[in-house]
Amino acid sequence: MSAKIIDGTSIAQEVRQEIAEEVKKLRDQNIVPGLAVILVGNNQASRRYVTMKTKACKDLGMHSVLIEFPEELTQEELLLKIEELNHDDAIHGILVQLPLPSQIDEIAVIDAISPEKDVDGFHPINIGKMMTGQDTFYPCTPYGVMVMLEKIGFNPEGKHAVIVGRSNIVGKPQGQLLLNQNATVTYCHSKTQDLEAFTKNADLLVVAVGKRNVIRREHVKPGAVVIDVGMNTDDNGKLCGDVDFEGVKEIASYITPVPKGVGPMTITMLLFNTLKSAKNIYSLKLDTLTC
Ligand code: NDP
Repeated sequence: MSAKIIDGTSIAQEVRQEIAEEVKKLRDQNIVPGLAVILVGNNQASRRYVTMKTKACKDLGMHSVLIEFPEELTQEELLLKIEELNHDDAIHGILVQLPLPSQIDEIAVIDAISPEKDVDGFHPINIGKMMTGQDTFYPCTPYGVMVMLEKIGFNPEGKHAVIVGRSNIVGKPQGQLLLNQNATVTYCHSKTQDLEAFTKNADLLVVAVGKRNVIRREHVKPGAVVIDVGMNTDDNGKLCGDVDFEGVKEIASYITPVPKGVGPMTITMLLFNTLKSAKNIYSLKLDTLTC
């Protein structure tokens, strides 16, 4: 058996088209969804990400601003800027690109963003809402995975989902979103003993570790759906995931490639959350994706 490849680029394109149509309807009412992206320092990967995010906004007819600060910015200065954006009526979403320089406390920064504009879905209030099954901004990467699963017709209910990785931005919320849809969820992490014993029982395997080839053919149950969130580089400097794609694709039923898998969905869900925030702020019903 050879797995079907889940084409993240085309799913993202489809969702972005829906978002663009909604943005157009809002613009007809003189409402332009706006995203502010804050970049501190000169991390090249971070710069690439924020450029992609602001460009994607503009491509869909949204307003976006990139606010750049030098590496030596103080926490107080950053909190002041966030407070200003919290009260800026043209801004519906605020994103602070992580990681931040060591003198700045990331938790304090996330806490300072108004939960109504927290389009990354990292604020404790939004995480609490997600945990209690309420509608809120869901973290973009796991939310994007949920949309991908929906698009391939995978219903998590009653399935065993194994999540490898338990970070606050990917692994933990991924498990929670799947639990909310009635999956039975197992989390694995660096202290898990006998990883294969767990992953081998997964109907759905989501891998978010950041280590190349951490999941190989012997870790996967035949017919499982395998979602690779990881982003690493191979020996030739090319982008690759956490899963040995060539080996695992022989036995999985569906698999995401890296690149062109989960990556395009992350930015797409950021755009979706920004649209959702603009609609929330103007008390308009959102009639695109549900999750
Ligand atoms: P973190 O480094 O925050 O978390 C990694 C997780 O993997 C931790 O929970 C860690 O366990 C676990 N882990 C480490 N080694 C092993 C191992 N050998 N076996 C099992 N679990 C292990 O990473 P993120 O969650 O932020 O990101 C994970 C990957 O996803 C990265 O490659 C990142 O670049 C990528 N990513 C991709 C995105 C996209 O849009 N495609 C978006 C966000 C991230 P422990 O908690 O015990 O330390």
